[in-house]
Amino acid sequence: MISSDLHEAIRLLRAGQLVGIPTETVYGLAANALDPLAVARIFEAKNRPAFDPLIVHVGQRAELPYLVTSIPDEAQVLMDAFWPGPLTLVLPKSDIIPDIVTSGLPHVALRMPKHPLAQRLLQSLPFPLAAPSANPFGYVSPTTAQHVMDQLASKVSCILDGGPCQVGLESTVIGFADGRAVILRQGGVSQEDIESAVGRPVSSQTSQSRPAAPGQLDSHYAPHRTIQLLEHGGRPTKLALGETWISYLPKPDAFEALAPDGQVATAAHRLFSLLRKIDQQPGGVVWIEKAPESGLGRAVNDRLMRAAHRA
Ligand code: AMP
Ligand code: MG
Repeated sequence: MISSDLHEAIRLLRAGQLVGIPTETVYGLAANALDPLAVARIFEAKNRPAFDPLIVHVGQRAELPYLVTSIPDEAQVLMDAFWPGPLTLVLPKSDIIPDIVTSGLPHVALRMPKHPLAQRLLQSLPFPLAAPSANPFGYVSPTTAQHVMDQLASKVSCILDGGPCQVGLESTVIGFADGRAVILRQGGVSQEDIESAVGRPVSSQTSQSRPAAPGQLDSHYAPHRTIQLLEHGGRPTKLALGETWISYLPKPDAFEALAPDGQVATAAHRLFSLLRKIDQQPGGVVWIEKAPESGLGRAVNDRLMRAAHRA
């Protein structure tokens, strides 16, 4: 039931059902964020542990006063610069947000997506949408409607098709300590762009094994085949039978390149699809060369490290 029927999606969401939705980052598994029973269905469908809080998606900034109790100046600056877009802000929640959404935390993660279909959907609904990535917990995030269909078909009432996700990586998550922005997860807005918006260096507190948030587990986005990472510029010394190698730039003996055109945004866009593709093939170790550790490359490398990590 991949569909382009916005009205049906609205009807289902109003009835407390789950709908797969396109965003510019990855496809989300959405439900009414203000309805604890609807939100519980998300956790059930994804097999997601209850300690992993969800991002709440809004259609307009005018909703914020109902959802949060305060907004630091730097949060305003970041919203001005990057909303709508792949940036999530963690702010003190109001009572209207059910505890199940935030896993009992006093803060809620908020984002305004840029995808036109997500925007139309949110603007047609009288409530915001809680939506994590539409994949079984711990597996690679979906960047097409078909990816969602492949893995969650029996769990969702409808998947809205908005084409392949433009960014292809999850949002950057920002928290605030004494009103100052701190990066909690690298994502679709680069650290450099955040720093230039707030006009100072920003610290990044990303790797935790018992995190306040899902994408922060050491092992996440994990395909079934074993991934071995190579430093940027490196290559496997020798490939054993059945092993595969993915280079960053095109290489004659590599199976595929992450960035065929040399652009890091292309690597971000292709990453999850490539991980799925190699996972559907039999074989041994998959060697993957990392992106350069700057700009969006930081988020690409973050996902690669979690995909490679074995619990
Ligand atoms: P996703 O699976 O992409 O929806 O991931 C949700 C991400 O949002 C997590 O990785 C966390 O970094 C972040 N997040 C969500 N809610 C909170 C919260 N209340 N406090 C801190 N981080 C949060
Ligand atoms: Mg996820």
